[in-house]
Amino acid sequence: LAAALRVRFEDFVRKLEELGFEDVQSDHVLNAENAGLVAMEYNFEPVVDESEDRDLHAAPVAEDRSEIPLRPPVVTIMGHVDHGKTTILDYLRKSSVAATEFGGITQHIGAFSVALSSGKTITFLDTPGHAAFLNMRQRGANVTDIVVLVVAADDSVMPQTLEAIKHAQAARVPIIVAINKIDKPEAAPERVKHDLARHGIEVEDFGGDTQVVAVSGKTGQGIKDLEGAISLQSEILDHRAETDGPVEGWVLEATTKKSGRVATVLVRRGNLKQGDILVAGTTWTRVRTLRNEGGITVNAVGPGMPVEVDGWEDQPDAGDEVLEAPDEQKAKDVVDWRIEKEERVKLAKDMEAINEARKAEQEKRERGNRATAAGPDADADQATSQDVAASSKRSNVVPFILKADVSGSAEAVHEAISTLGNNEVWSHILRSGVGGVSEFDVEHAAAARGHILAFNTTAEPRIRQMAEVKGVEIIEDNVIYRLVNTVKAKLSEKLAPLV
Ligand code: GDP
Repeated sequence: LAAALRVRFEDFVRKLEELGFEDVQSDHVLNAENAGLVAMEYNFEPVVDESEDRDLHAAPVAEDRSEIPLRPPVVTIMGHVDHGKTTILDYLRKSSVAATEFGGITQHIGAFSVALSSGKTITFLDTPGHAAFLNMRQRGANVTDIVVLVVAADDSVMPQTLEAIKHAQAARVPIIVAINKIDKPEAAPERVKHDLARHGIEVEDFGGDTQVVAVSGKTGQGIKDLEGAISLQSEILDHRAETDGPVEGWVLEATTKKSGRVATVLVRRGNLKQGDILVAGTTWTRVRTLRNEGGITVNAVGPGMPVEVDGWEDQPDAGDEVLEAPDEQKAKDVVDWRIEKEERVKLAKDMEAINEARKAEQEKRERGNRATAAGPDADADQATSQDVAASSKRSNVVPFILKADVSGSAEAVHEAISTLGNNEVWSHILRSGVGGVSEFDVEHAAAARGHILAFNTTAEPRIRQMAEVKGVEIIEDNVIYRLVNTVKAKLSEKLAPLV
């Protein structure tokens, strides 16, 4: 809900507390009525879709909770530099599902899962450190269920240890402490516990709830105990997720490989299968292949598991929320709508910037005029008035919107055009994109008092007419240097006439 309302999770939880909700965790389930009330607090008008409604009627979700299947917890490893995060992850990775079942080679896809002898599974995010954790959270992606805080037994609590504690606590993610390098002769685990207790971590040995496990990433000592502690914590937190219904998840990372665009999706609910249609950010895919961290094709993946998904129209971003769409058309509609929304937000920002610049220009000009009007008597002002005159000339920006047939040519034209100009007048590309000139492009150009460049693409007669009415010039060409010359001519029109 926080993501849907576009508020930071921490602020959202604070709001819930203000409203009287207690002990809120990221997997807290709100019923429709409460979700609606909260949405109204953020000035949204909630619409309850009765046909989709599962929680408005008699049995609240919480009562049915034991019927929802358990899911693997998702763990992030944090801690001070050199305390052994990577070493521990490497050790764990060796016992990952992929490594044990598929011949031992694990590929980096951003996460891996470890099967325990108890039959349970734990998923580890494969990027240690705080930046990844924070980046995801800033985008509203509450991926991590448990933080394993690594503290070296020979170094104890250090600045980044405290930072990790702060982040985990702010995100309300429970901590398990792994005291690492226990194999070293100078290891002093008791000191670590005391230091942690001094910084507000209620360690188990001193009567608190925070589990502490002594490990060695190097020898593997205690790693099984760490897995056990995570598993126990997950049982206490009762991590569950429905495996039926539409798939939801998060993008952990995305990249382009020889085979095309791929993204690692961490499934949050539902059962992700081949042929499913997913939307993430402003892109979508019909899943062709699902691969686990061993690079092995799998048929389906359930909640709490990471999987590499191919076939994306465009590359999604880490932290994007993944939602299943019922069909391709719906996926495309959602993406189009999101792109348009993004463009409108950008347009509003551009307009604000342009209006600011115009206002500043106007003010400078007025000041310049006043100074000039003062005439040669005002010797002392002369230097300033010249400066003002020069700088008012300098703020002659000519905005363009660029459309091209393919992204490669858009980039090439963008590069050629954006370097044009001198210190009096220059071109500024507000936005560039692929495809024909759209209604929105004309609106944008009209609002910015700019021109449209159409490279190797064109505008429908309807759009052309609209542009004419709005006084927007559409400059079409399919040869870069000619387009550049036309733009240069446009720029010189704006040069102040020589006096
Ligand atoms: P990170 O910066 O937290 O990811 O730390 P690394 O995993 O890169 O470890 C830093 C150094 O500590 C490396 O030289 C590791 O070999 C060493 N190291 C990590 N874990 C252990 C351990 O359990 N015992 C010993 N003796 N050395 C370790």
